[in-house]
Amino acid sequence: MWLERMKSWADREKPIKCTKKKYEKEDNNTRWKKAKLVKDYDYYICDFCNKEIKIEKKWEERSGGIVNIPFRVKNKDKVTVALHNKCLKPLLQKIKEEEHENNICARNK
Ligand SMILES: [Zn+2]
Repeated sequence: MWLERMKSWADREKPIKCTKKKYEKEDNNTRWKKAKLVKDYDYYICDFCNKEIKIEKKWEERSGGIVNIPFRVKNKDKVTVALHNKCLKPLLQKIKEEEHENNICARNK
């Protein structure tokens, strides 16, 4: 499953950056009608857990971001994914496990 996903991620250009918006009320005006829709923050969607990765201005406050994972597929040798820092290890582990299973299956054929 994860190997298939890695292949599909290799086909896309790069993880999509999304923008969260919020309504900002103008000063001295509490009427909702006048509220403006403004940008709140940008985020990626984690390819592992599908939750938001908020893009903080200071990188040391970020919980994740764009990562290149060495992975041979088609004419590429890496796949770009959006990941939380904590999601990198489990993803690499899953890939390793699946590659191992595939090797066993190939040998038994
Ligand atoms: Zn995650």
